[in-house]
Amino acid sequence: MNDFDGMRALVTGGASGIGRATAELLAGRGARVAVLDLDPSTVDKPLLAYAADVTDDASVREAIAAAVTDLGGQGVLDVLVNNAGIGAQGTVEDNDDAEWHRVLDVNVVGMVRCTRAALPHLRASSRAAIVNTCSIAATAGLPQRALYSASKGAVQSLTLAMAADHVREGIRVNCVNPGTVDTPWIARLLDAADDPAAERAALRARQPTGRLVTPAEVAGAIAHLASPLSGATTGTVLAVDGGMHGL
Ligand code: NAD
Repeated sequence: MNDFDGMRALVTGGASGIGRATAELLAGRGARVAVLDLDPSTVDKPLLAYAADVTDDASVREAIAAAVTDLGGQGVLDVLVNNAGIGAQGTVEDNDDAEWHRVLDVNVVGMVRCTRAALPHLRASSRAAIVNTCSIAATAGLPQRALYSASKGAVQSLTLAMAADHVREGIRVNCVNPGTVDTPWIARLLDAADDPAAERAALRARQPTGRLVTPAEVAGAIAHLASPLSGATTGTVLAVDGGMHGL
């Protein structure tokens, strides 16, 4: 018996990194899982794949409606993982207004769009859960991450507000705050660094465990919060950062 048997889940940004690991883990634990991504061409069965851009409300609505139909739950969605996100580097002087709007549109408003489209289907579930991928950047005061940190601070606040708004409808809302996770995103960042090996060593050293977090470890935390076994847990922030938040 798996804890997600008979459940239907949707993971945004599920074609890569944390989202991919989460979609695969939920499927392995019994859920039927749909992935929404800009480019879901690498997503294999048993996952269902839908192309959508979380900054485009019409494409989000269309993809979520199609996914809910194809998942076969007669309109019921049990789990939404709001995970699609992008990075940004620099201080407030380094990113112009257009860049602020672009990143906040993906990282914050993108979650709002996906949640709005999914809520009628989550309300039809008796085990509804939303998990948002936030970041240690929400609270750590990391240098050179002003815009990204602000976006994830908003995600953390949004999570707590959504938890309060929907608890009486039986919908739980929680978030995970990963440290640095070894995903294609971080690989791209390291590739662009002057000295990738030194940069990787610095990222490892930042976490007391002395290593990067794995996508599977974040997926495990997301699954924990999404599982009916966490049925009394809502409005929480779960750190998955190798002990970094305790520093
Ligand atoms: P990733 O780049 O490996 O995967 C992100 C996925 O999101 C990609 O498949 C991408 O196509 C998709 N995506 C991006 N913009 C989208 C859009 N507009 N519409 C639909 N899909 C879109 O990144 P990752 O490292 O797995 O990051 C996933 C989440 O985890 C992000 O929200 C990120 O902020 C968060 N996070 C990552 C780390 C880390 O160190 N990797 C740490 C903390 C938080």
